[in-house]
Amino acid sequence: MDFDRDRRRKPFKIKVVQPIKWNTREERAKIMEAAGYCFGFVRAEDIPINLTTDSGTSAMSMAQWSALMDADEAYFNRKNFYDFEKAVKDFTGMKYVLPTHQGRAAEHIVCAVLIKHKGAVIPANAHFGTTEIHAMRYGARPINLPIEEAFDTQKIHPFKGNIDINKFEELISNKGAENIPFLNMVMTNNFMAGQPVSMANLKEAAEIAHEHGIKVVIDAARLPENAYFIKERESGYKNKSIREICREACSYADVVHMSCKKCALVNMGGFIATNDKDLYMEMGALLVQFEGYLTYGGLTGRDLAAIAVGLNEGLDYDYLADRIGQVEYFAEQLRRRNVPIYEPPGGHAVYIDAEKAYPHIPKEQYPAEALGVEAYIEGGVAGLGHPSSLGWTRTDPETGKPVPCPFEFTRYAIPRRVYFDCQLEYAADVIAYAVEKGEKVKGFRIKWVPKNEFLKVFIYRLERIK
Ligand SMILES: *Cc1c(COP(=O)(O)O)cnc(C)c1O
Repeated sequence: MDFDRDRRRKPFKIKVVQPIKWNTREERAKIMEAAGYCFGFVRAEDIPINLTTDSGTSAMSMAQWSALMDADEAYFNRKNFYDFEKAVKDFTGMKYVLPTHQGRAAEHIVCAVLIKHKGAVIPANAHFGTTEIHAMRYGARPINLPIEEAFDTQKIHPFKGNIDINKFEELISNKGAENIPFLNMVMTNNFMAGQPVSMANLKEAAEIAHEHGIKVVIDAARLPENAYFIKERESGYKNKSIREICREACSYADVVHMSCKKCALVNMGGFIATNDKDLYMEMGALLVQFEGYLTYGGLTGRDLAAIAVGLNEGLDYDYLADRIGQVEYFAEQLRRRNVPIYEPPGGHAVYIDAEKAYPHIPKEQYPAEALGVEAYIEGGVAGLGHPSSLGWTRTDPETGKPVPCPFEFTRYAIPRRVYFDCQLEYAADVIAYAVEKGEKVKGFRIKWVPKNEFLKVFIYRLERIK
């Protein structure tokens, strides 16, 4: 026996307990109906096992909580900024750091500074939803170029988050490099089932971009988790530390931004990092307008202190092995119960292929939402299956018609250091039961959606098709 490699040992134990309120099945059915079958309207206290997102939902460590108490709230240049700045510099290897209140605030500033003319196109392995909206607001067209293998939910490939290099080169020759202000590499690739990007793919894409004068931006919300996959799966990285891998990745970028609500193990925060002084100054000017002064950017001293500690904890190998191991454990529990999942599972979530789970519900009647709702009603386990398939479906600005989504996913994201393995086993039982109900579960039609395309991702009202 090699007990040193036994995941059940866990790299932490519990110090603070948050009680869970458990409603009855009948109560949950009423709650869902009253919310129009939209989790955007359900109160969090009514969701006992909440797997709707891993964003801002991490449990902080005792080191983070004590850093919070030690924080200073002076306006200019509080000491916690320097701890934060050091942690970000150590993580990215970059010289200039700007704090932001969360990831999308960083994206906003990066897009505002890099997108200089209308009609630009912004390629990515697959943009996060808010990046797309920012790019569009600045008159640019976001384009997703995932590899073909990623569209096959059963195909095993170590780096399904990669960008398709041929398609990227084709885009450059079709649109002209002068119309492509930056390449956006999202690591891990949230909108592609949380799949990792290989270092080789990042390096090659970045080299092509730089040859053409195109800047490279890394969306590093889950770069530490991506680095773990690189260490485990890519040749040449077995003996590199997670930090070394993250720094190598950042060395290919002109700008790195991060939502600290993911891998920095905090409930709020973000940053932008770069080596380019001019860009830093330009972004800094916008930071002061939209977020706050250069050394706090919309964050309290407490937030900065918690990030300074959490960003380092998030790079710990044992922590990451436990974290990614728990996601894989959950995936294995679902597989064993014949729940059709996206393979292989990503770093932060297990995505269920709802078209396979509920083949009797046509796409137009939202099978992913039907599964998410059913598992909540049956056992209080919540995952997301938005009618717009997690924001993939949107109106094509050129044709005015909806662009269909390549998937129907119900996403079960795992908050970091929050749930026990046995709670995820329970969740797998509940989800499997909801799948087994089969034709007893009916689809939905839309009763109300807001006019705004983006808001539609989060708030809507549905009614059950009888
Ligand atoms: C969450 C997320 C963001 C945005 O971050 P927020 O902190 O939620 O604003 C950006 N990119 C990716 C890949 C994300 O998952």
